[in-house]
Amino acid sequence: MKAIVATENREAKVIEKDLRELRSGEALLDMECCGVCHTDMHVKNADFGDVTGRVLGHEGIGVVKEVAEGVTSLKPGDRASVAWFFEGCGHCEYCVTGRETLCRSAKNSGYSVDGGMSEQCIVTADYAVKVPDNLSSAAASSITCAGVTTYKAIKVSNTQAGDWIIISGMGGLGNLALQYAKNVFNLKVIAVDINEAQLDFAKEMGADICINPLNEDLAKVAQEKVGGAHVAVVTAVGKAAFNAAVDAVRAGGTIVAVGLPVESMDLSIPRLVLDGIQVIGSLVGTRQDLKESFQFAAEGKVVPKFEMRSMEDINDIFTEMEEGKIKGRMVIDLKNT
Ligand code: NAD
Ligand code: ZN
Ligand code: ZN
Repeated sequence: MKAIVATENREAKVIEKDLRELRSGEALLDMECCGVCHTDMHVKNADFGDVTGRVLGHEGIGVVKEVAEGVTSLKPGDRASVAWFFEGCGHCEYCVTGRETLCRSAKNSGYSVDGGMSEQCIVTADYAVKVPDNLSSAAASSITCAGVTTYKAIKVSNTQAGDWIIISGMGGLGNLALQYAKNVFNLKVIAVDINEAQLDFAKEMGADICINPLNEDLAKVAQEKVGGAHVAVVTAVGKAAFNAAVDAVRAGGTIVAVGLPVESMDLSIPRLVLDGIQVIGSLVGTRQDLKESFQFAAEGKVVPKFEMRSMEDINDIFTEMEEGKIKGRMVIDLKNT
């Protein structure tokens, strides 16, 4: 089968690869498609360590071809996800308290185990989440990471309907964050990006205020216009966006860190203490979060924007992502390879 792997010169490459036999508890998926997340770019660049030879991808959707003995959660013909949270141990403190993505033995698709950018993929059946019938595979693909991550980030921010939320970074994650914020959580949105095209896109999708921090001071506008946001979800890949978010929330406000620039942010201790600011890191979502975020998309509350591409386009897609040319997501077609 064909698969996209990380190479030692920090690129991605389409190779021929053989798949091992299924083991107990596993399912074999015939892959339909897999979105390209900015995290795939961090992984192939070795930002989190060298993974040469690893099959990339964690926005994968496939159709179950075969299940190993003992599997009851999936059956042939079901559609299921290949998400970043590939598997947890199932019995640690995190796994049994609804925080399974923090399991210290968790495996991650396209990073510590082979991911979804291949014609076939082996998953641990109980950890692959089923896709609702009325959601297309390409749309479900974007929800598998970008959607669930931003849905969960807003969930942990504990906002109330009518609150103001800053969404900083309106790329693959940000445009879905905007839709979950508006259409599921009933929030008012300040969309932030350094790229005007992304802000036009945000406006089309109903952002209440759009700010380009290269032209305007986010903190000043947010404080003057709405008294500071209640929450800021930062998906931008740069520390300037994290620092600006701290100054743009109101007292008691929360910053949810989602983007993964390999940098440190500045945090004034008096600002943190005297204004009761909270800073939370949020990592993808649990199987239950994914199930919920799929359902909102199946109901049409969140409509992923994507373009189908071929496996051979992978390095071009990374270049377009670096240059900020992508609106929504590029999704790799794994059925017609
Ligand atoms: P993307 O490239 O599609 O979008 C990033 C957006 O940020 C772009 O629109 C870009 O113009 C904008 N941007 C860059 N610098 C900015 C700044 N200073 N201020 C405002 N906007 C800025 O990337 P993506 O796929 O949306 O992923 C975003 C980040 O989130 C990546 O670092 C990725 O690794 C991370 N991520 C984290 C999780 C998690 O679980 N926490 C899950 C998925 C992705
Ligand atoms: Zn991702
Ligand atoms: Zn665990």
